[in-house]
Amino acid sequence: MTQNLISYDIIIAGAGPAGLLLASELSEKYSILLLEKNKIGTTNKSWLTYKDRFKRLGFSDSFILNEFKQWNFKIQNSELCIEDNYICIDESKFLLYLKDIAFKNGTVFLEDTPLTSYAYTANSISVNNKYKSKLLIDCCGINSPILEKNKHLIKESLYINCYGYIGEFENLDNNNYYTMYDEGLDKISCFGLTKIAPSEAFILFLTYSTEKSNFKDYEERIQAGLKIHNVPPHKRVRDKIANYPTHELKCITLDHIVLLGDSASSSPAFSGMGFNECLRRYKYWSNFIDTWLENGKYKKRNLKIPKDYARSFNKLLFEMFAILVIHANINIMEHLMNATKYINPKHLRLIMRNEVSEKEVIDMIKGLFKEHAFLEFIKTLDTVTLIKILRLTSKLSKSLTLKTLYNLVHPHHKISLHDIYK
Ligand SMILES: Cc1cc2nc3c(=O)[nH]c(=O)nc-3n(C[C@H](O)[C@H](O)[C@H](O)COP(=O)(O)OP(=O)(O)OC[C@H]3O[C@@H](n4cnc5c(N)ncnc54)[C@H](O)[C@@H]3O)c2cc1C
Repeated sequence: MTQNLISYDIIIAGAGPAGLLLASELSEKYSILLLEKNKIGTTNKSWLTYKDRFKRLGFSDSFILNEFKQWNFKIQNSELCIEDNYICIDESKFLLYLKDIAFKNGTVFLEDTPLTSYAYTANSISVNNKYKSKLLIDCCGINSPILEKNKHLIKESLYINCYGYIGEFENLDNNNYYTMYDEGLDKISCFGLTKIAPSEAFILFLTYSTEKSNFKDYEERIQAGLKIHNVPPHKRVRDKIANYPTHELKCITLDHIVLLGDSASSSPAFSGMGFNECLRRYKYWSNFIDTWLENGKYKKRNLKIPKDYARSFNKLLFEMFAILVIHANINIMEHLMNATKYINPKHLRLIMRNEVSEKEVIDMIKGLFKEHAFLEFIKTLDTVTLIKILRLTSKLSKSLTLKTLYNLVHPHHKISLHDIYK
């Protein structure tokens, strides 16, 4: 059987941004087979990213549908405006362009061909009983059959459930906004409108949850949002409804297999901008894959990608803020929103972009605990909530130990060291 299998250096499953960015890069050096369940260039997602990042990677302006400078977030009565050079990408055009690069480099594409099975053979992996390679890269996204078979890889589930559609407008200002609602710790939701092209906007209602949502009642929330925000009349042209993962995996490798993109849940927990994450990371991913192939060692333990600090910091920050928002009867978002006061807008931008460094996060947290208004708020917290916040915060770094945080907080709250450590 084994000798009849057609052999490639790499097999990639999934022709979304992760699979195609990797194919465009790795095909310069390796023979690749790319299997796609549907047609290449179709997606029910839409992608916002940053112009400087996109241009730095050498991509042309012709993929850009719209540009805007401000993203407005609203929570209760406060507002936050994050300024950056946002762009919306023409998804299909971009995917087909990447396909073309990989194709010219010799990549073999099979459309309407899902990855259905895989098995280990002598020092390689066979796929669909027809093909084999040293390395299978799983870029199938949320419904990855490999993750489905290896649920033990999931450390903690967190999904973004996005229900929305593209609306066609006659008059549309360049205003992009998101309104966040607190509905309990596991229930943060938001209504948003993003202008993605001169006469088109993506209107959405999204929630964060530990299970994939079935979108029951979401239509009602969309309708309510349209009313509250006085969204002008428009034609509903295409639905965009999908869950996507932002949970953490214990590891993203199995023998001869690596999971990347949404298969590996690489969308950042707070922003969910997984396309942007593929852009941020694909050259780095390619380098790793190159090193593994050069080393010729395909055991799980040899395929370890170092921890992505930016990603885990963001997640912790998000959790911390979520606790502050929801449990603590204070609107930290409001504080966040007044970002110039508490967090340097530059840092906030970096958080959104997933580019924040360890040092910057630590400075930011330390700064937060020194703010007069923040410390006033600390006084109002019950001990349990405060301990929760401190524990989360101290996970961020060795220098922010519980003792350090205790010293920052203690004069403002009658918490004892014993409470913290018990
Ligand atoms: C509505 C919505 C809006 C979004 N907006 C943004 C945004 O503004 N900015 C941003 O950065 N991110 C955004 N995201 C997130 C982003 O779209 C994803 O993180 C990104 O698409 C992940 O890319 P991927 O290639 O890993 O997976 P996917 O894009 O999900 O691609 C997976 C591919 O694998 C194929 N596939 C599935 N199963 C199989 C199989 N068994 N065999 C072979 N092929 C298979 C699928 O058909 C698909 O082509 C949004 C997501 C959604 C749902």
